[in-house]
Amino acid sequence: MQIIHGRSGWIEVICGPMFSGKSEELIKRIRRAQIAKRRVQIFKHGMDARYDATSIVSHSQQSLPGNAVSKVEDILDLVDDRTELVAIDEAQFFSDEIVSVTNKLANLGKRVIVAGLDLDYRAEPFGPMPQLLCSAEYVTKQLAICMECGDPANFTQRLTKSTDQIVVGAAEIYEARCRRHFEPPARNDSKADSAGG
Ligand code: ADP
Repeated sequence: MQIIHGRSGWIEVICGPMFSGKSEELIKRIRRAQIAKRRVQIFKHGMDARYDATSIVSHSQQSLPGNAVSKVEDILDLVDDRTELVAIDEAQFFSDEIVSVTNKLANLGKRVIVAGLDLDYRAEPFGPMPQLLCSAEYVTKQLAICMECGDPANFTQRLTKSTDQIVVGAAEIYEARCRRHFEPPARNDSKADSAGG
C-alpha cells in the first residue's frame, strides 16, 4: 500500500477474518509512525478485554497501550488537537457513528487507521464495516490460514452454538476457515447478529 501524503487527512481500513493479522498490521503501522515521531492516539472498544483492558494485543502477543472506549463519540472528546494519527482496533463493535467520527477526524487533517472484522460468524457484513470500507481512501484485506486445510482463509468459524449477539473470544471459540471449510450456522439462528473479536 503506497500512501501519497497530501495536506488533508485520510482513512485506512485493515479488515479480514480473525487471526488474519489485523492487529499486527495496525501495530506495525503505529510503530512506524511513532518512529517518525508522529503524535499517536490508540483506541479500542471496551468490550474487547480478552488480553488486556486497554491495550491493543495481537494473537501473537504483540501489544501497544491505548484507551478503551464504550462509544465511538468518546474518541472525539479524547483526541487531542495535535494528534496526527488516530488508530482504532475492533471497529466492528462500534455503532454506525464510527463512520462520521472517522470522517470528521480525517477532515481535520488526521491519518485515521481502523482495523476490524469485515464479516461476522455468519459471513455477513459486520456492523459499520461496509460503510467504513466505502469511505476509506486505503483498504487492506488480510487473510488468515484455514485451520482445516492450510489454504488462505476469509471466514471466521464459530465453534460453539451460542446465539448471543456478540461472543468475545479467541482460539477456544473461533477458527479461521477457507471458503470450502467454512460452515455457516443454520438460518433459523435468527437471533444471532454478530460475533467475534
Ligand atoms: P487479528 O487481529 O486479525 O485477529 P492478530 O494480528 O491478532 O489477528 O493475530 C495474527 C497472528 O495470529 C498470526 O501472526 C499468528 O501468529 C496467529 N495465528 C493463529 N491462528 C492463525 C491462523 N489460523 N492464521 C493465521 N495466523 C494465525
